[in-house]
Amino acid sequence: MPASAPPPSELPPPVPVPCTECRRIKDAFHAATRAGNRTAAQGWIVAMGRHQRWMH
Ligand SMILES: [Zn+2]
Repeated sequence: MPASAPPPSELPPPVPVPCTECRRIKDAFHAATRAGNRTAAQGWIVAMGRHQRWMH
């Protein structure tokens, strides 16, 4: 009769953003959005799209 399985090791905390660059772009996007700078926000969306495509 097998003993009960050992408790799973502590899981690492969930990472909201996969990488620092994503985080940087996201922060910049939110900053631009808060400032009401739609052009900059749009530019960050494009930057994020490129980054996602090339780096992930
Ligand atoms: Zn990334």
